Amino acid sequence: MKTIPHKIYLSEDEMPRQYYNLRADMKKKPAPMLHPGTLKPVTAADLEPVFCKELVRQELDETTPYFDIPGEILDFYKIFRPSPLIRAYNLEQALNTPAKIYYKFEGNNTSGSHKLNSAAAQVYYAKAEGIKALTTETGAGQWGTALAEACAYFEMPLTVYMVKGSYEQKPFRKTIMQTFGAEIVPSPSDTTEVGRAMQKKFPNTSGSLGCAISEAIERAVSSPGARYVLGSVLNQVLLHQSIIGLETETAFAKIGDYPDVIVGCTGGGSNLGGLIAPFMRDKLLGKKDIDIIAVEPKSCPSLTRGKFAYDFCDTGKLTPLAKMYTLGSGFIPARDHAGGLRYHGMSPIISELYAAGQLRAKAYKQTEVFAAATLFARVEQILPAPESAHAILGAIDMAKKCRQSGEAKTILFGLSGTGNFDLAAYEQYQNGTMVDAVPTDADIKESLKTLPKV
Ligand SMILES: *Cc1c(COP(=O)(O)O)cnc(C)c1O
Repeated sequence: MKTIPHKIYLSEDEMPRQYYNLRADMKKKPAPMLHPGTLKPVTAADLEPVFCKELVRQELDETTPYFDIPGEILDFYKIFRPSPLIRAYNLEQALNTPAKIYYKFEGNNTSGSHKLNSAAAQVYYAKAEGIKALTTETGAGQWGTALAEACAYFEMPLTVYMVKGSYEQKPFRKTIMQTFGAEIVPSPSDTTEVGRAMQKKFPNTSGSLGCAISEAIERAVSSPGARYVLGSVLNQVLLHQSIIGLETETAFAKIGDYPDVIVGCTGGGSNLGGLIAPFMRDKLLGKKDIDIIAVEPKSCPSLTRGKFAYDFCDTGKLTPLAKMYTLGSGFIPARDHAGGLRYHGMSPIISELYAAGQLRAKAYKQTEVFAAATLFARVEQILPAPESAHAILGAIDMAKKCRQSGEAKTILFGLSGTGNFDLAAYEQYQNGTMVDAVPTDADIKESLKTLPKV
């Protein structure tokens, strides 16, 4: 029997009462977002027709380190938080490593991922300001599901533009969102001008995330009292996700340990940004030296092969320009199974830290990622999301290095979600039909030609 705890739980009283804004401690701040028409830094007035006021304030504030978490959000968090920090004893044993491996598990809610942390906050602030309805897009479905849960809790009407291909391939995601009361519209649709134009041009298209974003924004700005919400990339989303890292910091303090290495998967950068927030603060303030690793798919390698430049956040080129590592807003990644990592850009905060050498990045192929996911499922008994399995493989690689060097490092990784809706992907892996698609240099060069001239 083990005497050292397997799960390090916090009590509700030990939950963080404030979000932490990492930008406040960054000497070199992320470059400002630019208005797509004037190319001047965006102002609150530019953003307020799209986002609610408090979220605009959070988006633009790069100096206030802590934001109080309203009691109503904390009450909602208590349904599924604090989330456990788990010591991966069984994985350590399987790898025969002297390293100590821990993971923070964010999959313990119906949406199955960390996205509910920001959904809860965004819906609460909109409701508190008297916003009457929200719109968003969803590709694979995790964000739409998380938002539908939060909208059910706060009684907020929600319309989700779901990429038509996913709508048809993942009917159960639609069913969950509808159970929580959301209206689901396959995109492109005839409810918006962008959607109608798209259907005219490409009659049989299965849609794209970029088009769904454009439809959701159009619907929000043309409906009185409605606003748009987004589940990753934005500064406000990383702020809300800091709850992951703050809880982890408290849990490590309880057991008298501290990570030497932190690994997370990166799509738009929100779960990694949240997990590392207080640890990166310690690193930036010179208190700790931590090796921080962002893991992305080889099929969509924005950090490892993209360019650090201003680009649009959507394919429709409606959004402000953000300075970030990007593959070009027209980049269409292969149909990989880690849907949440198929994004052409990266959070400006993560991008700036990467450019400054404060974190490093690795890219893996999906077949090797699924091998890691399968090992993890067998020994740790949680079926990981394909996205999260990128972080698992990053941690396994580090633990194997420790086996060779004999170092007993403390490795922390983010298990951002569960893979219960990704069984078609697991099946492909098992029957050997999964392929690894990696863009060529020429593909990336071509796509980067679409970068706006700034
Ligand atoms: C959406 C998603 C991601 C990627 O998004 P980030 O903003 O980079 O965190 C990672 N893991 C899971 C389970 C997701 O649903």
